[in-house]
Amino acid sequence: MALVPLAPETRNLIDGKLVPASNGNTFQNQNPATEEILGEVADGTKDDMLAAVDAARRAFDESDWSENHEFRAKCVRQLYEGMLEEKEQLRSIVVNEAGACVSLSGFMHVDNPIEMMAYWADKAASYPYEQPMSQVEFAGSLHGRLLRREAAGVVGAITPWNVPLYLNIAKLGPALASGCTLVLKPAPDTPWSATHLGKIIAEKTDIPAGVCNIVASSDHLTGEILSSDPRIDLVTFTGSTATGRRIMECAAPTLKKVFLELGGKSANIVLDDAKFEAVVPAAAFSCSHGGQGCAITTRLLVPRTRYEQSLELVKTAFENWNYGDPLDPANLQGPLISKRQQERVLGYIEKGKQEGARLLTGGGKPSHLEKGWFVEPTVFADVDPDSTIAQEEIFGPVLCVIPFEDDDDAVRIANNSVYGLSGAVTSGDLDRALSVAKRIRTGTISVNGGQWFHVDSPFGGYKQSGLGRENGLQGFEEYLETKMIGLPAKG
Ligand code: NAD
Repeated sequence: MALVPLAPETRNLIDGKLVPASNGNTFQNQNPATEEILGEVADGTKDDMLAAVDAARRAFDESDWSENHEFRAKCVRQLYEGMLEEKEQLRSIVVNEAGACVSLSGFMHVDNPIEMMAYWADKAASYPYEQPMSQVEFAGSLHGRLLRREAAGVVGAITPWNVPLYLNIAKLGPALASGCTLVLKPAPDTPWSATHLGKIIAEKTDIPAGVCNIVASSDHLTGEILSSDPRIDLVTFTGSTATGRRIMECAAPTLKKVFLELGGKSANIVLDDAKFEAVVPAAAFSCSHGGQGCAITTRLLVPRTRYEQSLELVKTAFENWNYGDPLDPANLQGPLISKRQQERVLGYIEKGKQEGARLLTGGGKPSHLEKGWFVEPTVFADVDPDSTIAQEEIFGPVLCVIPFEDDDDAVRIANNSVYGLSGAVTSGDLDRALSVAKRIRTGTISVNGGQWFHVDSPFGGYKQSGLGRENGLQGFEEYLETKMIGLPAKG
């Protein structure tokens, strides 16, 4: 599929202006499928980040942004319309810098995420910020009450590289719609998915100067200002659990609200009465986008009575899985984001072999793809549920197949994880599948193929998969404080 020529914004957005880094430095953006250097981007410094925080603080404290709900709704809608106008440029950016397959760009990377901004525009104006409550008696007299929700303040938003445009929108949308101001720091591997939004904000919206700042930087630690600076009220982070822990630590001295969307190691449970020929091969979808999705089900749990049949089905599916050039619409798997990530995934594959798992298929770099950070679709059988590859997030196209004895055993294995982000259960009996799903400690789960993902569905994890929820009403309310006002009784 042909993409429009790349013409990304390469400057940061600080206090309403598109600016180069204060020291003039830039860093390179690389295409992970071709290894080609795509271009440069402003390499934001700590001073740039401090200036962005300063601008966001002033915009929150000194303007009526947080109170003018109608104006905000108009501005967020302008952002939505601006993104629609720039949709093909955004598609070109995401495919080039993230190695995203064009086949997945509709629902996962570009079109669907852009539509989400319309939801946030509506929420800005329609949310009931003030709700009178019933009168109560206190110390012998009656009192009125007003429940008021107010914007949490200045938000520090930090995003990873795997679904960069969606994840930037998932933070910008509710933060702006709720009346917060913010500073967004994208991952260094995918800077343009953020800086180009800065251009749209600056050129196509009335969002006031300082309300939304975007600072790309090659230095991960530039982001640490967002979790430690006392002028930030809330830090929202999507990324690895290790970085999430560090963010909590940095946020602790100033007791910021912390909202974390972290890793996963989700289980796909196929019960013994399921249609195995249809369900098990679908486990190959865990290779979509190179397995670089936090909610992907990377542990396939099958009954021991149907273990050999399942292994055959899954092996065939993985060996017939289309992957390679992201521009080929037949492919659902492109490269991993970087050489570092490719090496990390290959390291996990070695670890799996060392720990005694049986490599069923894949396991290396594909010989037919000369360039790019690809890894073959890989399946391990006989995986010990306590082993490293069954416990740690690999973030690559690697599936672990684990047998179970009965439903209780499947639930026990699924819950044997520090994570709890997603999952799936399939059975010929919907009630049985649902009762198993209810016992899995996870924030989202699919039953018999049902899809939970939607801008209106709260998304997030149990345990070390995170704190709080993104999307939906709950996701919006993460960006609000609660004020309870006592009033004299009426009449
Ligand atoms: P990462 O934690 O290495 O980096 C994420 C972001 O944090 C980047 O912008 C990075 O520059 C920044 N960062 C790194 N160190 C920092 C620090 N000390 N202070 C502040 N910011 C810092 O994660 P990654 O490798 O870019 O992304 C992959 C991870 O993201 C996986 O674990 C995946 O599961 C997770 N993820 C979670 C979700 C979700 O919604 N739960 C969605 C997508 C990805």
